[in-house]
Formats: sequence, structure tokens, C-alpha cells
Amino acid sequence: MTADARSEMVQVAIVTGASSGIGFGCATKLAEAGMAIVGTGRDEDRLSALEKAIGDHDRVATVAVDLTADEAPQRIVQTALDRWGRVDFLINNAGVGSPKPLHETDDESLDYFLGVMLRAPFRLAREVVVHMKPGSAIINITSTFSVVGGLRGGAYSAAKGGLTSLTRHIACQYGPQGIRCNAVAPGVTVTPMVATRLEDSRFRKINTEMTPYPRLGEVNDIASTVAFLCSEGASFINGQEIVVDGGWTSTKYLSDFALNSDWVQS
Ligand code: NAP
Repeated sequence: MTADARSEMVQVAIVTGASSGIGFGCATKLAEAGMAIVGTGRDEDRLSALEKAIGDHDRVATVAVDLTADEAPQRIVQTALDRWGRVDFLINNAGVGSPKPLHETDDESLDYFLGVMLRAPFRLAREVVVHMKPGSAIINITSTFSVVGGLRGGAYSAAKGGLTSLTRHIACQYGPQGIRCNAVAPGVTVTPMVATRLEDSRFRKINTEMTPYPRLGEVNDIASTVAFLCSEGASFINGQEIVVDGGWTSTKYLSDFALNSDWVQS
């Protein structure tokens, strides 16, 4: 088989925020499934670590760019087209945490959250969708905070809720062309984004005590779901938001410990 024929066969996934946490996990998982990966982030050292983790230089390219820059979508998509001539999957994952409640959110912070987690995925999806062929898919990483309001969610909840609606629009608009779009909504997942919060034992405890499957999320929980949604087995799943949180969002669960705590007993 010629190199050209091989490059026509390989599926290509763009993963944003691939320099860390969930995005890094998705990129390596999809590479293990045989895909070529275009991983993006701002930190060049961490992008080099991704290239090393994937290990096969024929199947990985990285783009160090601030996703909110005007030229970012074009640069990212062109990288995939120049290397492999196609894009099969877009994983809109990059995000930022530590929001404040509505009344404490200034305009700069509002624009920042909406810019990274709503405007940038919108612009990247717009850039990529015209190159996608039937069988392609876009997956947006949202959050349990796009399903429930989320205490202190503020601009983060607003951005993620918008991303959920964008998911449904893309699913409706491009489904007839064989292009699916779904969202994956993680619960609290152990990554650098929440590392500081997880140092607080009360934060850890309250999240596990209210989760009927009582643990925190792991990167692989999310990466596996993303990989499934990219697979043939998910070819009739379109316009959904899959919540991966052990039941935190859909139940009002309290563990025995919580049920027996003073404030419930009194
Ligand atoms: P993380 O480890 O902090 O990674 C965030 C990624 O986003 C990094 O790769 C970062 O790249 C990239 N990024 C942030 N701002 C960027 C910008 N302006 N331009 C380019 N890249 C940018 O976070 P994570 O926990 O894996 O989060 C991944 C996604 O999951 C986010 O959308 C987050 O909202 C969502 N999520 C996470 C949790 C959780 O508990 N961890 C829960 C619900 C939803 P650089 O640092 O290289 O710039």
C-alpha cells in the first residue's frame, strides 16, 4: 500500500485542550484506536509530551495557539488537511475553570469564559464542518453545570449551556449529511483544572457523598465515552448530552454518612 493510500484511510481527530487533563486523555485514547491526532493547546512543552505519549510521528501533529485568536480555527483545520487531507472528528474540549457567581462576574471574565468555551468551539465547528464527510462527528465537552445550574457557575454555566444548545443545532443541521454531534458532560473529574479544589477534603467528600456510584471521575471515564461516540457503534446517537458523573446530576442521592449527619437528622 502506498503512503498516500494509507493516509486516505486513517481517520483524523482534532482535540482541543489536548495538552492537559481530559483532552490529553481523549487524544491518546483516540490515537490508540488508530486515529491521527491534531492536538491543540497553548503550552508547547505539554504538547510535546502529548507527541511523545502518542509516539508515532506519522499520526500526531500539535498546534500551539490561543483558541480565542481570530486565526486559530483556520490554522488548526489547515494543519489536519495539510497532513492527512481530511478531518473526521472534532473534540471541542478546551476549557477554563474557577468561575464566580453572576453578581461577582465582571465583563472581562464573562467574555473570557464565553470566548474559550462557546465562541471558540462555535468558530472551530464552523471551520471544520464544511470539510467533513458522512460518518464524521463533533463532540463538545460540556459539564454537569450545563444540566443543573451549578452553585458559583456564573459565566461557566452560561457558556456550557450555550454549548449544549449548539450541539443540538449542529446535530439537526448536519445530521442529514451524515455528520453527528453530541456532548459529553463530565462530573468532577481528577485533572489539573480541579486539583486545587480537590485538596479541600470537604469538596472531595461532598462530591463522593452525593454520588450514588461513590467516587470522583477519572479522565478515562470521559475519554472512553468520547471514543465510543466516535465509533461505528454510536452511529445512531445524535444530538445527545451524555452525562458521565456516577449519577450525581440525575439523582438526589445522599450516602448513609450524609443521611445520618446532623443536619439531615434534625
Ligand atoms: P485542564 O486539565 O485544565 O485542561 C484544560 C485545557 O484547555 C488545557 O489543555 C489548556 O491548554 C486548554 N485551554 C484553556 N484555555 C485555552 C485557550 N485560551 N486556548 C487554547 N487552549 C486553552 O482541564 P480539564 O479538566 O481537562 O477540562 C477539559 C474540559 O472538561 C473543559 O471544557 C472543562 O470545562 C470540562 N470539564 C471538566 C471537569 C473537571 O472536573 N475536570 C468537569 C466538567 C467539565 P493550555 O494550558 O496548554 O493552554
